[in-house]
Amino acid sequence: MRSRNRLVRDHEIGAVVPEEGHSIYAEALVVTDALGDTLGAEELMITHHVGGLVEFGYVGPDYSLETGGGEEDQGTTSSSNQCNDGTNPHDKDEKIDEDLRWWYNSDSRPFEVGASETLSALRQGGSNMANVTNVCGHGDNVSAGFSYQGTTDSLTEIDENANCGGGDTASEVSWGNLPGALSGRKTLAVECTNLGIERIGYDEIQESDVKFNKYEAVWTNNPTGSRCDDKYDVEAVMTHERGHSLGMGHVGDDDSHTSLTMNPFIRACKTAERTIGKGDWEGLERKY
Ligand SMILES: [Zn+2]
Repeated sequence: MRSRNRLVRDHEIGAVVPEEGHSIYAEALVVTDALGDTLGAEELMITHHVGGLVEFGYVGPDYSLETGGGEEDQGTTSSSNQCNDGTNPHDKDEKIDEDLRWWYNSDSRPFEVGASETLSALRQGGSNMANVTNVCGHGDNVSAGFSYQGTTDSLTEIDENANCGGGDTASEVSWGNLPGALSGRKTLAVECTNLGIERIGYDEIQESDVKFNKYEAVWTNNPTGSRCDDKYDVEAVMTHERGHSLGMGHVGDDDSHTSLTMNPFIRACKTAERTIGKGDWEGLERKY
């Protein structure tokens, strides 16, 4: 008989302690509720070694509150920054062994986005990261990829409080309840990675779930349209989360690398994260 699952909380994110020989990485993209300002991201890693030792990573607040719109706004970013900022995201020493197969719960999406364009945006997000989509003319030297398997009726094992549950080995993407604007902040999306410890020389990513906030955030697939109004771009957010699915952490914990997709700050009405920057692709190339 299994013992009761132990839940660990760390600010805006939580996760259940995995089985021995496994670890879990959990990330929440958190934003403030006004003017598209961003709070940053909160991370937690739990490693359950064979023999029982449990280790924690990224404990404590991982963000610093940012106010104001930053030096870039409304969807564009300087290509020179994307092409020149070679700061690498934090390397979590983990990778996928073969293309990550994933399923999508399309019926869970919010009313403001259509089915086909949202699926396209989610697929494109994975492609942007794995295929090194960039504006710098840099080639794709990354062997990792994603393989879309179709729709599913099941939901991710991420609850309404942004807690990552135990892995079921099926990587899923769905929409649903996540923490809202109480206290002036809300969780845009949560990514949970389940890993096997050191099976093949590095920790093997076995599952990556992504859950989007259906009710407390407003989404769009056309953020550069005439008026965006505090909507978040599905493809940009998915591109960032797919960086985590491939085992990358964040670049920095402040607002100084906004041209890189793995920066922890996402702003409304902004598409810059759709294309990855030099630090992002260098991080991928070191892994794959
Ligand atoms: Zn992140």
